Amino acid sequence: MPPADRPRARKTADRTAPLSIDADVLVLGGGPAGAWAAIAAALQGRRVVLADKGYFGTSGATAPSNTGTWCLPPGEARHAQVERRAARTFGLSNPHVALRVVDSAYEGLRALAEHGYPFPLESDGQPYVANLRGPDYMRHLRRWALKLGVTVLDHHPALELLADDDGVGGAAGWDRQNDRPWRVAAGAVVLATGGCAFGERMLGATGLTGDGYLMAAEAGASMSGMEFSCQYGVAPAHTSLNKGLIYRWATFFDEEGRPLDMSGGDRHFSVAHGLRRGAVFARLDKANPEIQDWLRRGQANCFLPFDRMGIDPFTQNFEVMLRCEGTVRGVGGIRLLDDTGWTGVTGLFAAGDAASREDLTGAISGGGGPNASWAIASGQWAGNAAARFAGTSQAHGRTLRALGGIGLTARSVQREASASGDVVQAVRDEMLAVDRNFFRTKPTLQRSLSRLDGLWRDARTFMAADGAGAIRTREAGALLATSRWALGSALFRNESRGMHRRLDAPDTDPTLAHRVRASGLDRVEIALDAGAPSELRQVAAE
Ligand SMILES: Cc1cc2nc3c(=O)[nH]c(=O)nc-3n(C[C@H](O)[C@H](O)[C@H](O)COP(=O)(O)OP(=O)(O)OC[C@H]3O[C@@H](n4cnc5c(N)ncnc54)[C@H](O)[C@@H]3O)c2cc1C
Repeated sequence: MPPADRPRARKTADRTAPLSIDADVLVLGGGPAGAWAAIAAALQGRRVVLADKGYFGTSGATAPSNTGTWCLPPGEARHAQVERRAARTFGLSNPHVALRVVDSAYEGLRALAEHGYPFPLESDGQPYVANLRGPDYMRHLRRWALKLGVTVLDHHPALELLADDDGVGGAAGWDRQNDRPWRVAAGAVVLATGGCAFGERMLGATGLTGDGYLMAAEAGASMSGMEFSCQYGVAPAHTSLNKGLIYRWATFFDEEGRPLDMSGGDRHFSVAHGLRRGAVFARLDKANPEIQDWLRRGQANCFLPFDRMGIDPFTQNFEVMLRCEGTVRGVGGIRLLDDTGWTGVTGLFAAGDAASREDLTGAISGGGGPNASWAIASGQWAGNAAARFAGTSQAHGRTLRALGGIGLTARSVQREASASGDVVQAVRDEMLAVDRNFFRTKPTLQRSLSRLDGLWRDARTFMAADGAGAIRTREAGALLATSRWALGSALFRNESRGMHRRLDAPDTDPTLAHRVRASGLDRVEIALDAGAPSELRQVAAE
């Protein structure tokens, strides 16, 4: 269908009246996963609306980064790579699903090339496809979606899902620029709202507060792998620059100038260990002039803080810290029930960091390729499935009720919006500290959980706001919910596995080689997912 003839969900012209749109598919979140979902659904001829909290193309974790991506053509090498990866995932990945991801991501990258994305050329003239420059990649996806007729709502955070007895049928939120509510009724909804960085200040992640997790749980979905939400990235002290590539050429030192012991092969562990004893410093002294030039050209934004501070990071020591990336380069998220991205709630699908990535990465970080490939693959799966589902359901004429709780409705008549600041600070206290979340013990986890459980009860009673104020109260509620699932799952997993490091249970327990499911809002419930959905998927596919 030529773009001009494609169905398009129409916006109202009056910018003061509440915005109300009917669509076939509503995508929440405009990172790569949301973009691929919107494009896939639009290619099926559906009327698609994409709403982002920020500006689709510059918000989210990919936009400011260079994302390494798996580009593995069909063949032996693909199988070998997936097997190598599976061997490192502590028994929780599913190579069958991983192979599908690699396949869909490869087809996505081919489609991107066919659509004119300017991949850089290697010295032999072949395109270098395994790295996507965030700003260029996201700008290209935005243009592609617009060309296909997707209606884009920038600066339109979603606050809650809408549903009736037939399932989820849309969402509502706030239009920040016109200061008015918005509401989209849709046959199916894709949650692509990214991960949760627990209020950490790092590249692209200030808006990643776990909103999609909260909305999914309010609709009845559960989470999986939330104990693997303790990924940290090295950053120069007091900066938000948590890009890791430059540290491949670094030596790390303690306060006395002694090199840190890196023999364990885990940079983050060594730095975290060093930080427990005092300040840690780095110097990029292993980069020769050629690498230095390449890094400066390829990772330009990494050097801005150094240039501002007047430091030459290749010859001078600079202080570093660890920024908690939560589930962004961690693993946990919405538990999917099949390989279409279905959440188990009728009409509701999830993709990208909003969904658990255990199938692909098990108990270790999915940064460096898997996560970017997952965003391409799961985005397309969810977009296609939502488009198919929307063909069987209808958006128009349904009586939809709002599902949002915390931050929107209070149990007491005394409503308080300002409480959101205290809630966010409490989440930051409990979830960002290396001593509490990188290195975990039962007593510290219990203390954190008990404090946040108490805050949840208070917030449920008092914390609520309308209009633009609800953006903050909902974010605070989402951070609180996500932290409680993460802490509850970390307490439940009484062992160490991958990024989940329990100082009081340092060994891996073979009986816990299963996934952990977290659900519930007022009462968090944690259970071993012995019948992991990945096993069901494998049976279905054979
Ligand atoms: C510094 C850094 C480097 C990385 N490098 C790599 C790499 O090299 N390789 C790799 O595989 N992975 C990498 N990752 C991980 C990768 O960036 C993510 O996996 C990827 O961005 C996930 O895409 P997404 O679309 O799911 O989420 P995001 O890109 O985070 O996008 C989520 C979007 O949802 C929007 N949103 C949030 N809440 C709402 C709401 N309530 N309403 C509407 N919209 C909302 C946000 O504004 C955002 O635009 C890196 C991450 C970081 C932080």
